Amino acid sequence: MAVEPVGRSRDRAGTTDVTDVVRRHLRDIPDFPEPGVVFKDFTPLLSDPTAMGAVVRDVADRWRGNAEVVAGIEARGFILGAAVAYELGVGFVPVRKAGKLPGPTHRTEYDLEYGSAAIEVHTDAFAAGERVLVLDDVLATGGTAAATCALLERTGAVVAGFEAVIELGFLHGRDRLHGRRLHTMLVV
Ligand code: AMP
Repeated sequence: MAVEPVGRSRDRAGTTDVTDVVRRHLRDIPDFPEPGVVFKDFTPLLSDPTAMGAVVRDVADRWRGNAEVVAGIEARGFILGAAVAYELGVGFVPVRKAGKLPGPTHRTEYDLEYGSAAIEVHTDAFAAGERVLVLDDVLATGGTAAATCALLERTGAVVAGFEAVIELGFLHGRDRLHGRRLHTMLVV
């Protein structure tokens, strides 16, 4: 069977920019999870297999040959990350909130706007020098992404880059990832 080429930022038909696909499958939920926050809900994207397929292939095509494993950040990064890993034919590693992983872990704590959070990854998740693509749904302040990249490097992995579907540009999260290869599909 012939393999249909899928151009960068194009869907399967090759006519629609994937940024527009994301924009059309995104919902704003005001005041969630707390007053003043506009939650970017990508569940409409997940429920549309054509749109989701376009997004997954777009990410995979960008990193093919440059990522030996995909890491997804709990929880929505798991959904995208597992699909992209499958598309790339590589393994998937979950980066989880503290206390969720059953085996020995590395842990890092980082500051949130109010309070702090801790994330963990299994100590044996990566081979030394393995190149990892880190995925999440939203890049907001960048604290979670930056902490994840630093955590993975402590395990001996090499962070090939970070990618999110949506970037909240006004929070300047990409500044926290300065010097890293970074891609987001839709900046709002
Ligand atoms: P950050 O501020 O970049 O550390 O974001 C923390 C986490 O919360 C990320 O994993 C995002 O997926 C999620 N997040 C932050 N802000 C939003 C938002 N407005 N809508 C949806 N998810 C968000």
